[in-house]
Amino acid sequence: MLDIHTHTTASGHAYGTVLENAMAAKEKGLTGLGISDHAPGIPGVCGPEELCSLRKNGRSLYGVNIYYGVENNVLNDGAMTLTGHYLSMLDYCIVGIHGTCYEDLGPEENTDNLIRCMQDPKTFFVSHPDDGAFPLDYEKLVLAAKEYNVALELNNSHIRHPWRKDTLKNILIYLDLCIKYKTNIFIGSDAHSPDQVGSFSEAISLLDEIGFDDDLIINNNEEKFRAFIGLGK
Ligand SMILES: [Zn+2]
Ligand SMILES: [Zn+2]
Repeated sequence: MLDIHTHTTASGHAYGTVLENAMAAKEKGLTGLGISDHAPGIPGVCGPEELCSLRKNGRSLYGVNIYYGVENNVLNDGAMTLTGHYLSMLDYCIVGIHGTCYEDLGPEENTDNLIRCMQDPKTFFVSHPDDGAFPLDYEKLVLAAKEYNVALELNNSHIRHPWRKDTLKNILIYLDLCIKYKTNIFIGSDAHSPDQVGSFSEAISLLDEIGFDDDLIINNNEEKFRAFIGLGK
């Protein structure tokens, strides 16, 4: 199992270093760890140069394989805040709607904006598409995710703290559609501190309850994950 949605001090409001997250990943028995700090656009986040230089921490720490990505922001015109040269240096992009840099435009436009970002060759994941404050057309989203080789997140932190509008209801809607269309998902801890790295228990319980197909979960096997983001074996 890998945790590919974790944050470090580079996000400004997270509290572990790459080393501390890696140590926590080892203690949880993960084979891989993805560092996916927020992209510029969210207050307190470091600049793109600093974000990309996290790679200097190396590819293997405490026996855990380390991947370097970003949790990018979708903007109201369907663009992302981190693009071009900097994005190309990273292993993968997770794109998500964040209220600090996005204004709700209703389900149709919100979904179209996300889909535009999903078409970027570096985007392999969508974070927490469950917040009812930014409604989505789930049928359209799940079909687009399949078409563009993107996995949708089941965000453990959002299940554990379900204060967002309709979070649990929305999660069940898109998981059902992922089963129907055989669209991939990933389980993310969205850890903002090392103790949260690899925290998947609520997500795993939910997936067990609904009988979700393990084959569709991208981060439960390292080879599957590497192939999915085009790194191969
Ligand atoms: Zn954050
Ligand atoms: Zn995150």
